[in-house]
Amino acid sequence: MFLHEITDDLEALKGLGPATRAALNRLGIMTIPDLLRHYPRDWEDRSHVVPLSDFAHAPVCTVAKVKAHDWVGFGTMRTLKVTIEDKSSSGVLLCFNRPFLEKVLLVGKSFRIWGRFFYKYGDIQSTSFDIEELEGDGASAASGGKIVPVYRLSAGIAMTAMRRLVKRALERYADSLEDELPAALVNRYDLFHKAPALKAIHFPSSIEEQQKARRTLIYEELFYLEIVVGRRALERKGYGSASTFGDGALSPLQNRLKARLPFELTPGQLSAIQEINRDMDAPSPMARLLQGDVGSGKTLVAFLAALRALERGGQVALLAPTELLARQHAENAALLLEPLGIKPAFLTGTIKSKGRLQLLKNLATGGIDLVIGTHALFSKDVVYRNLQMVIVDEQHRFGVLQRQSIMDKGNNPDLLMMSATPIPRTLAFTVFGDLDVSVIQGMPPGRKPVITHSARQSNEMKVYDFVARELAAGRQAYFVYPLIEDGEGSDLKDAVSMARRLDEELFPHYGTALIHSKLDEETKRLTMEAFQRGAVRILVATSVVEVGVDIPNASCMVIEHAERFGLSALHQLRGRVGRGSAQSYCFLVYSDSLTEEGKARLKVMLENNDGFVIAEEDLKLRGPGQIAGTEQSGYLKLGIADPVRDSVMLEQARTDAFAILESDPGFLKPEYRCIDQVLRRVKPFQEVTL
Ligand code: ADP
Ligand code: MG
Repeated sequence: MFLHEITDDLEALKGLGPATRAALNRLGIMTIPDLLRHYPRDWEDRSHVVPLSDFAHAPVCTVAKVKAHDWVGFGTMRTLKVTIEDKSSSGVLLCFNRPFLEKVLLVGKSFRIWGRFFYKYGDIQSTSFDIEELEGDGASAASGGKIVPVYRLSAGIAMTAMRRLVKRALERYADSLEDELPAALVNRYDLFHKAPALKAIHFPSSIEEQQKARRTLIYEELFYLEIVVGRRALERKGYGSASTFGDGALSPLQNRLKARLPFELTPGQLSAIQEINRDMDAPSPMARLLQGDVGSGKTLVAFLAALRALERGGQVALLAPTELLARQHAENAALLLEPLGIKPAFLTGTIKSKGRLQLLKNLATGGIDLVIGTHALFSKDVVYRNLQMVIVDEQHRFGVLQRQSIMDKGNNPDLLMMSATPIPRTLAFTVFGDLDVSVIQGMPPGRKPVITHSARQSNEMKVYDFVARELAAGRQAYFVYPLIEDGEGSDLKDAVSMARRLDEELFPHYGTALIHSKLDEETKRLTMEAFQRGAVRILVATSVVEVGVDIPNASCMVIEHAERFGLSALHQLRGRVGRGSAQSYCFLVYSDSLTEEGKARLKVMLENNDGFVIAEEDLKLRGPGQIAGTEQSGYLKLGIADPVRDSVMLEQARTDAFAILESDPGFLKPEYRCIDQVLRRVKPFQEVTL
């Protein structure tokens, strides 16, 4: 029998009333397999004796004899006070709300006792303790006992009751359980079989046993996770590699766009579009991730890909994380694609009523070919006539669910996701495990790497002087601040007050404008448009300009309080300049009090221009502790495994799973069908930023 085949009701376990059942349900425990999979969140090692006299150093774990009963307090406050004694000392158990212990802790009997004791009113006493009856007189109980599980609880179920229930379930069912893992793997890694693994995860007889059980169950979960990932990749590709379809050559419409460009496609762009074309010629839908550093020209590749779908009469949706970026894409589309007879449209949450209704109607009837917008694209009322391709820009800003909700609006549409942010390996192996990846190597020609300088805040005038020279030469500049407005009156510079200072005091002869997330969309649009035209030469901003914004004439990026930004944000911000042929500069202005870690981060920025290298340095700086922390592991919660923490085992499990799928593409044990659903339910992982 497999674990999921236990169909007995929870009530089959003796001593389970409706209240306990409700409490279990609140913990998500509906069935006996759920209960057995309710792994301890911790274990208390009670295998070493800690006598009463050592209470100050550790929880006491001893065998003691009951000497006397006493009652203290009155009425409802009446509390049983039990005096006990072990070889080292005597102590007191205060049995708050446990009057029934009077009948258990009988005078003269010995018990194994575990609990935190403290010194009060002249006694060594405890109010929260566990007891266990000893057989016989207990004289032979030399050791402290065992390792006990500590469970997540809910109101209505106590730790002892939970332990008792799990124990009953194990006694009744564990021995008949079959392995989920192939025997060869159990042997290869010296794992437990299923039955001993379950027993030892709950009630290990030693720490070594507990660790082996944990290793077994983690591996089992990761193995099936990778089986699911691998199967999905196979299903999608129809068991054949896309690369065998077509030569990827440009289609007629793609060639027409190419011919209209004022520049040549880079080799990196060309090979990416060829891979995409092959995907699209294959019978199964595309699921490709397009990675390329900031400024490598991903937008153009996306447009070329869109043309392929449009050419075949389908509709395309292009999703961007900010309205600013969506609008920029829409403007580019109007410029580049409209002349080819494509009908693009722009849809965001702020487009209201009449215009919106007309637009939705056109989408539903096919009057629009290419719709570009923010998350408004996957809102309920948006219906497509024939959505054949979904393009997600800056995909790391979106969650899996959001991606899925737009995919559901088409009939197996092709999916192209773009990002400058390299995906950590664990994500690449799990949530993105079934994706194909293209990398745009290289930059458009003529780009000069941005020259980066750092400067102490007290040297800010030098930086401003430098920017003044660039402005005089006709260039434009960004000034970025960590805060919109500084309410606290600290000495942090903020965007609002610096916009004033730059405009009135430092650069009165050039137009200065301010942009941040609190402004309304129309103001943002007008501001960006003025900056684009060059009417505004200095743009003061927060990190709203971090993604996508493309103004080639801007040659200076000044980031103040740079130590307050993460490495990936700094890299993205720096990527806003160096987009034209002029030499560009980035200034990282840091506070006079800079931590060692802040220094290290700025150093990475000064020494590297490559986003992939920076992402790796970032991982190193933040260290595995940080990476394994809540921030990143939130994206995929399994029962006991954590793909980030257990990344080494994850890689092994992936290799093993893929090897098995090669000979048996349908391989999956029913117990693990749930992982498929888990993968579809994973939380958005915006917080996973590198
Ligand atoms: P990203 O990859 O960061 O999204 P963009 O798509 O915004 O980059 O492109 C950055 C800039 O490079 C744009 O101004 C775009 O017009 C320009 N560009 C794209 N491809 C080329 C090319 N092959 N040659 C020259 N410039 C290009
Ligand atoms: Mg982009």
